[in-house]
Amino acid sequence: MPFKRNVYERAVYKEPGPVLDRENPFESMMKRFDIAAEILDLDPGLYEYLCTPSRVHITAIPVTMDDGRLKVFEGYRVIHNEILGPSKGGIRYAPDVTLDEVKALAAWMTWKCAVVDVPFGGGKGGVVCNPREMSPGELERLTRRYTANMIDVFGPDRDIPAPDMNTNEQTMAWILDTYSMHARRTENAVVTGKPIMLGGSQGRKEATGRGVMTVTLAAMERLNLRPSNCTVAVQGFGNVGSVAAKLLAEQGCKVVAIADVTGGYYNENGLDVLHALEYSRANQNTLEGYSEATKITQEELLTLDVDVVVPAAKENQITEEIARNIRAKIVSEGANGPTLPEADDILNEKGILVIPDILANAGGVTVSYFEWVQNRHGYYWTLDRVNRRLDRIMRKAFDDVYNASQTYNVPLRIGAYVLAVDKVASALRMRGIYA
Ligand code: NAD
Repeated sequence: MPFKRNVYERAVYKEPGPVLDRENPFESMMKRFDIAAEILDLDPGLYEYLCTPSRVHITAIPVTMDDGRLKVFEGYRVIHNEILGPSKGGIRYAPDVTLDEVKALAAWMTWKCAVVDVPFGGGKGGVVCNPREMSPGELERLTRRYTANMIDVFGPDRDIPAPDMNTNEQTMAWILDTYSMHARRTENAVVTGKPIMLGGSQGRKEATGRGVMTVTLAAMERLNLRPSNCTVAVQGFGNVGSVAAKLLAEQGCKVVAIADVTGGYYNENGLDVLHALEYSRANQNTLEGYSEATKITQEELLTLDVDVVVPAAKENQITEEIARNIRAKIVSEGANGPTLPEADDILNEKGILVIPDILANAGGVTVSYFEWVQNRHGYYWTLDRVNRRLDRIMRKAFDDVYNASQTYNVPLRIGAYVLAVDKVASALRMRGIYA
């Protein structure tokens, strides 16, 4: 049987980006940066330097389509900066990718890596194409030519891509192969998010959900809550939500509600998460018809009388109205951008501890870093070692963000940005600017 893989299959691991205002993504990133810059009283020159991408690459990608036509696609790679190390960030394929969006996402990767102390700078790539209308062969040729065009940009010491929207393990395998062909040696540290057999890391698929579990436990500790006394509701039962629910249950929490796109499922006596997972797997990855629970709406789930809510489905779920009705003590953002800015203010006023996405779902990029380290050593860690090191990093990142929020008397979200911008700015001052 030849190697067959559905190249459209959902990527299980992404180097996440924030939800950006499609009208003006760069400005929406800058709003967060500006608050941190103001608190830190950044020098205007440093401010300008830190918000300007250090390199922007735009390339034409000719591809022979299956019908013999030649089509030219536009591709980008933006290196926001390499102050803390080689740049790191995903590549997205989508018809509406813009250079502004890629610039904003590259900057966001700089802050995200800094929050978890991963020694990388920020980068991001994009190709304007519609992968759903392209065959596997066309996607492979597009990926290979994009890689060849970026041969002087990518590299284990320079810039390390990963999967993002509409790219996955297979895309990373093609990049690895093309880069290695040009380098005349196998260079698997050039990308992360690879298949395990090509140098991917153990624990990678669970890394984001595991990180959510670690920071949620750390938050409980700060609030003097014991996991065994806590009830949890999780929205989203995919890669992030199901792992977070499973691991929180293993820690003694009572998971009373879960939800996927088909609705919420509630059982006040607690749900058997493993059983629900088995049910979902056998039921085309949905919980539809799950009989061990009462069906509720997404809104009911988010506003249940529980200790912790984990939004791990998609963006913009916690609106102002929902925020007013949220009864949880902790909101742990597994998803990117699940809370609208106006809702954020309400949660803060109510004294609810919101663990921001930039911290809560950083487990993915952390294990990406581990993957790169293992590739460079040529020595592979056990799952246990990956998990222990991930837990340690996430725990420390939570404590650092928490302390920053206390020092500046700001919510954790702003604390995370202050911490990240301060780290990068301090490193820059130490290196000095070659100007
Ligand atoms: P996934 O596709 O594996 O799962 C998404 C889940 O959400 C599914 O259970 C789906 O049914 C459910 N869902 C979809 N729409 C919904 C809705 N309207 N209401 C309720 N549930 C809904 O995705 P994932 O990888 O788990 O990612 C979830 C979120 O976490 C996204 O915001 C993603 O950007 C973010 N994230 C993922 C990773 C990662 O490593 N996978 C890393 C960082 C951030």
